[in-house]
Order: sequence, then C-alpha cells, then structure tokens
Amino acid sequence: MRYLILSDLHANLEALEAVARDAAGRYDRVLCCGDLVGYCADPNAVVEWARAHCALVVRGNHDKAAAGIDAVEWFNPVARTAALWTQRQLTPDNAEYVRALVRGPVATDGFLLFHGFPVDEDAYLANAAEAEDAFRYVDARVSFFGHSHVQGGYILNRGRVETVGRARRGPFSFPIDPQCAYLLNPGSVGQPRDGDARAAYATYTPQESAVTYHRVAYDVERAQAKIHAAGLPPLLAGRLGAGR
Ligand code: ZN
Repeated sequence: MRYLILSDLHANLEALEAVARDAAGRYDRVLCCGDLVGYCADPNAVVEWARAHCALVVRGNHDKAAAGIDAVEWFNPVARTAALWTQRQLTPDNAEYVRALVRGPVATDGFLLFHGFPVDEDAYLANAAEAEDAFRYVDARVSFFGHSHVQGGYILNRGRVETVGRARRGPFSFPIDPQCAYLLNPGSVGQPRDGDARAAYATYTPQESAVTYHRVAYDVERAQAKIHAAGLPPLLAGRLGAGR
C-alpha cells in the first residue's frame, strides 16, 4: 500500500489540487493529520475533496474550532476571525463531517497519525526536546503529525534524537531503519511555515520502508486573491507568499 500523507490543508484549494496532480499515480490511499479548514477561502471545496478521497483524517485544532467543539477565544485574533468566517461558510453536511473527525493518535497499517503532540492535539512538537518527550507516548515505529507546518521530523536512534530535513531541490527520500523510531511531519499543504512557499506532502510505503518528502509550486496568487475577496485578514494572504 502506498500512502499519500497530508496535513494542514487549511482550506487552500489551489495548493491541494496541485498536490493531488503532483502525486497522481504514486499512491493508493490518502491519510490526513488534520486542519482541513481555517485560514484560507475554500473550506467547503477542501472538505468535499477530503470526504471523497481521504481514507482517514484525524482532527486538528482548527477543525475543532470550525466545528464548534472548542471555543475560539484562545486563538489569536487572525485565526479567530478565520475560524468564525469558516463556521459561517461550511454547509451543514460539511460541518457535520468536520465535527465527527476522529481524535488522534489513530493507528493504521502499523503506523500512527496525530495532529499536534501524541497526548495533546493542540500542543506543538517543534524541537528535539519535545520530540524526545513525544517518543515516550508512541508505540509505533513510524508516526505522522502536523500542526507546526514545518516539513521534517525526528528520529530516535539508539536513545538519541536526530532531526530530519525537508525536500529542497527535488523529492527527499529516506529509509525507515527497523532499529529506530520516527516522528514525521509531511509539512503543510495549505500554509507552509518553513520558509518554502510551495505546498508540502509526503508519500510512504510501509512495505518498502521508505518515506519521501515532496514540494510542489501552486497558484499562490489565486489563493491570495480569494482570501482578499472573502474579506479574511490580509495577513493570511501575505504569509502564503512568504511561506512563513
Ligand atoms: Zn494547522
């Protein structure tokens, strides 16, 4: 089974369509580490794509906010404005789908998916010290997570935490060593924050013990124009162009 691993789509349809085109023919099943919505201007189209194509989506903090599961008060003002706008946009069917998303970690085919941190979907896993802590809570060799919007991750190699980089000029592949454990972030499809504005995703084939990180350019200007037309905070358009 070849998996397409997505995270943090954030209602960016242009980025999602570019990823789907780029990955076409190289996967059998789509999995998602959460945050289908929030920030960008196409929540319904992105949720409908997920409903049609994803075998499994664990919920993210923005999904909870858009579904009314969590109060939005703790979000920063920009994220809160986008969450409330998303609540108004989602059709009843799509809102129900988002509300029913499962909380991670969820195991599938021997690996795990979660959104932020293994025991707290709202917490970040963003440095080696946090990864060292997180490894104590996972019982799978390979886990995929999101939330930080930074492609990369961490390897537990004989008690030491090593970091994994991101795809730069072309796809970046690395083997899964049976002696190690892996916490892997495929990066954000819809709002990358690792200094590369291109949409990020991963492919994983457990039978071949191989993970590949990918980046693909998409029509950022079109996504930005939709954010402006929707009356969403302009900052959300600006950061797409910067990849931060
Ligand atoms: Zn996110």
